[in-house]
Amino acid sequence: MTSKPVYQNLELQPIGGQWRAGSASRNLDVTDPFTGEQLLSLPMATREDLDEAYRKAAQAQVEWAAMGPTARGQIMRRAVEIFDERKDEIVDWLIRESGSTRIKAQIEWGAARSITLESASLPGRCHGRILPTDVPGKESRVYRAPLGVIGVISPWNFPLHLSARSVSPALALGNAVVIKPASDTPVTGGLLLARIFEEAGLPAGVLSVVVGAGSEIGDAFVEHPIPSFISFTGSTPVGRNIGRIASGGEHLKHVALELGGNSPFVVLADADVDAAVNAAVVGKFLHQGQICMAINRIIVEQPLLEEFTRRYVERVKALPYGDPSKPETVVGPVINARQLDGLKDKIRLAQEEGATLLVGGEPQGNVMPPHVFGNVTADMEIAREEIFGPLVGIQSARDAAHALELANSTEYGLSSTVFTRDISKGVAFAQGIRAGMTHVNDMPVNDEPNAPFGGEKNSGLGRFNGDWAIEEFTTDHWITVQHAPRPYPF
Ligand code: NAD
Repeated sequence: MTSKPVYQNLELQPIGGQWRAGSASRNLDVTDPFTGEQLLSLPMATREDLDEAYRKAAQAQVEWAAMGPTARGQIMRRAVEIFDERKDEIVDWLIRESGSTRIKAQIEWGAARSITLESASLPGRCHGRILPTDVPGKESRVYRAPLGVIGVISPWNFPLHLSARSVSPALALGNAVVIKPASDTPVTGGLLLARIFEEAGLPAGVLSVVVGAGSEIGDAFVEHPIPSFISFTGSTPVGRNIGRIASGGEHLKHVALELGGNSPFVVLADADVDAAVNAAVVGKFLHQGQICMAINRIIVEQPLLEEFTRRYVERVKALPYGDPSKPETVVGPVINARQLDGLKDKIRLAQEEGATLLVGGEPQGNVMPPHVFGNVTADMEIAREEIFGPLVGIQSARDAAHALELANSTEYGLSSTVFTRDISKGVAFAQGIRAGMTHVNDMPVNDEPNAPFGGEKNSGLGRFNGDWAIEEFTTDHWITVQHAPRPYPF
């Protein structure tokens, strides 16, 4: 149990160094997606609040960056201790606010903790270079500098981790940050992190959170002149628009866009079927399939199709679904009624297009039981579009070459999987997939704090974690020193 009192007054936002109510006349009601209970009603932030957050961040960043690597690393390590001390409180919020099962909430807590621990080492790993130069008497240096103020926009599915994976490295590297969490998850997407970092000793104003309506502060968050970098994680259509606003003409800001996915899960004819079935269960149904890396298409080479399908269906039928707080629950609620309606449409359309329903069931509240479809083809909506829910279709591939063609027949390129007993074949297959991440003999849902996370094609731009976070959250500054007079040509 958490030994310290839980954080109070979560209806307040840390804006420019002060915890206060947003200035909008409208409130945001935050509800538990499983019980429907109202958890919080918080006054939203306005453009003026946002402006104050950015201006104070710009002031606070200068001193923060000057604090030096050891001091910044220590605050990160202290934040990790607070993650440990408050584990139950954090997990509880993830269950209640984002509908996480207990299993997923613990994974997410661990991921946010790990990236914060990794971030503690980043200040000491961030270094410049001295370059050779042909100019006599010159010294050519490259300094690595923080970008300044960074705006972070995060989604509701892994709100704590997907905010933390930008916020922790960005702060550690000497930047100030303003977070705009998703409206479904203001606490786990921002307010908890701000409390944790404040308790860890982060100076006031270095981290602000603005909770506001997209229509009121969405564009202003990106267009504001102070942030030089917008780190966006969310859907491809919204990400495209953010990219256009941030760096499409009037503004020239750095952007990281971590967008949607359509992960193929390929089972080749020589695969270990048990291992593939186990991976496909977790890789699809963890967090009700609401993960950008989640399996979107299962592609099985013909000789294994019947056996894989039979064993997969058996496993999926037995998955416990319902109350996310129960330790055994695997499939909890989807985030809201709008998402549920979208999934119902997908189920109806899959059947209309000729897919065979192998596992199904009626929703109870926002809980959609797991669905599996057979006889799926690449042109069906369930194969073409990102599903983001507990549904999946199985496709048949004639041979390995056809499986690769199917795997690549998507506009997305985030994560992917291939199962085979022949590791060399698996790696060659992986190299043929156009994606940022491919796992041989594992599920596609993988994120490690020191490994590059990101996508190709319409899954986004940029990479997170480890050395890649240093690249993203700092910039190069070439500075030369002419030690001796230079002979100019005229
Ligand atoms: P979304 O794009 O609807 O929203 C993401 C965030 O953007 C939210 O905070 C939302 O409030 C904000 N937003 C929406 N419109 C905005 C605007 N005009 N200006 C500024 N901010 C705006 O996505 P979602 O439904 O919250 O999340 C699901 C999507 O996110 C899926 O497509 C999923 O694949 C993707 N995702 C990607 C990754 C990744 O790392 N690649 C991780 C998680 C989720």
